[in-house]
Amino acid sequence: MAAIADKSKPYIPFAGLASDGRSTEDEATATCFCGAVQLAFPTSGPGLVNTFVCNCTDCRKITASMFASNFTVADTHLKHIRGHDNLKSFGQSQTIASGEMMTNYFCSTCGTLMYRVGSSFPGQRILRIGTVDDFNLHETKLRPQVEQFIKDRVSWFTGVEGAQKFEAMPPPTSK
Ligand SMILES: [Zn+2]
Ligand SMILES: [Zn+2]
Repeated sequence: MAAIADKSKPYIPFAGLASDGRSTEDEATATCFCGAVQLAFPTSGPGLVNTFVCNCTDCRKITASMFASNFTVADTHLKHIRGHDNLKSFGQSQTIASGEMMTNYFCSTCGTLMYRVGSSFPGQRILRIGTVDDFNLHETKLRPQVEQFIKDRVSWFTGVEGAQKFEAMPPPTSK
């Protein structure tokens, strides 16, 4: 029988080449697969703006998966611990539902997408829950509160239990 995980403590498995991921009461790190890029962010508001899963076609393609698991952090509260100059960016607006420019910042060594910056979301960066070193946060403070673009959701995924659902983009006030 498996032990019941204690989700009140950090759980930092060996999941990338960095071994210095950390998580405290109010701050945690997010690191790319190779370890070159590391960020620190607050695990509560106002620095942590929202958490959401997006099933849109653009998110499928850019994650090379079926949906993206995101959390938004205010620029004023995001710290670049290392590897800022190892990030490479690629932006386009053609497949973004709003038609606005969305710029993606990748680790230029291992390709991990660390965050996206959208021209329609000034002052914020959209990070990826999967890059967060403390895996317990994926299920606690960073658990997705909103699920959007359910109209584009793959049929074998039944959605995020308990999340507020939206057919496409939520209205600006709800996330
Ligand atoms: Zn990397
Ligand atoms: Zn999306």
